[in-house]
Amino acid sequence: MKVFKFGGASVKDAAAVKNVADIIKRYPANKLVVVISAMGKTTNALEEVAKAFFYKNADAKEKLQVVIDYHNGILNGLFSDKNHPVFTDVNGLISALDWAIEDEPIKDFDFEYDQIVSVGELLSTKIVSHYLTSVGIACKWVDARDIIQTDNTYRDARVDWPLTEAATNEMVGALLNTHSVVLTQGFIGCTSENYTTTLGREGSDYTAAILAYCLNAESVTIWKDVPGVLNADPKFFADAQKFEKLSYYDSIELTYYGATVIHPKTIKPLENKKIPLYVKSFIAPEKEGTAISSDAMQPQLPSYIFKVNQVLISILPKDFSFIAEESLSEIFRIFSIFNIKINLMQNSAISFSVCIDDTTRLEDLMDELQKSYKVLHNKGLQLITVRNYTKEGFDKVLNSKKTLLEQRTRNTAQFVVQPENA
Ligand code: ASP
Ligand code: MG
Repeated sequence: MKVFKFGGASVKDAAAVKNVADIIKRYPANKLVVVISAMGKTTNALEEVAKAFFYKNADAKEKLQVVIDYHNGILNGLFSDKNHPVFTDVNGLISALDWAIEDEPIKDFDFEYDQIVSVGELLSTKIVSHYLTSVGIACKWVDARDIIQTDNTYRDARVDWPLTEAATNEMVGALLNTHSVVLTQGFIGCTSENYTTTLGREGSDYTAAILAYCLNAESVTIWKDVPGVLNADPKFFADAQKFEKLSYYDSIELTYYGATVIHPKTIKPLENKKIPLYVKSFIAPEKEGTAISSDAMQPQLPSYIFKVNQVLISILPKDFSFIAEESLSEIFRIFSIFNIKINLMQNSAISFSVCIDDTTRLEDLMDELQKSYKVLHNKGLQLITVRNYTKEGFDKVLNSKKTLLEQRTRNTAQFVVQPENA
């Protein structure tokens, strides 16, 4: 049994959904668990609905209409029979959401967000599942909320592994005896009180890894619009090269430094059971892609990873004393209270600098730090990481950018820079 994951771009229109069916048909000898994300940019569009509903700064119904029209366009491209049951399923999901946003919010924003945004995955999987069935694939739709059990950290839910493993084996295991494809939603889960949760943006890769782990899958394949894992984002680099093979370790490092090709949480469950991960192109499914496993060779290609919207914060003692252990532990505690991840840090005699993602919690964090320290900050920066660096490589990424902070180890160099146009 293999696990396949198709992201938003791979189901962004009717032609793309047909292509997914063609890819699945290439694997007639396999049992497949297929994980699907919301179609195209639906999650972003539903975020707009959630904000309008909660903060009342825009018309939520109008925002929802964009999502409805988009899905109707895809439905019409896939199903000519207007009495097909897919229309009832889709209308049911839309009406429920439409009613929900007429009410007042009952809890905090993160809770409401998950109830609304999760509908994107429910819609996409209903549509794809009906389409696969209509072209003769024995496909069974499963509600991920019946198998992925989480805590109630809305928008960033933690998986309850024992419960998830038991539910997945019982439900999906049994269905695979009678169906060649079991299809479910990425990104979403459920609390013990039956409320919908999400696993964090781009979390569908993680869902694929969770299911593969629970079911002891032979492999996971993530189908993408790029040929595999590249050594740089093609948005920034025209001549990006593909890795043939990567170790779990290298891929964790790449995602940690900000490579967006795979969700950072994906690797660990796979590594634990030594399940290989393939990243392949849905545009050229016959091509090799990148294989990630434990025995892969250390990559010699340098990789270039850009993280944008970075903030550099410098923390200085008010009384000119040294930044010593006590103040460092106090500073880390403050970052942890605000749940802010430090991407890079450096200390000197009288200052401690950290680079973080820009966040809505920045002001509160600074207020807290300012109670005990002098705090300076600089927004709109980029964090550039070069792994397996060469000197020539630096010129390629840094060109005329102004470097504010720099750090090197034997293999990895990092730069906090001001973008050219700033
Ligand atoms: N649809 C979700 C998102 O866009 C999950 C995913 O695509 O992996 O964040
Ligand atoms: Mg996505």
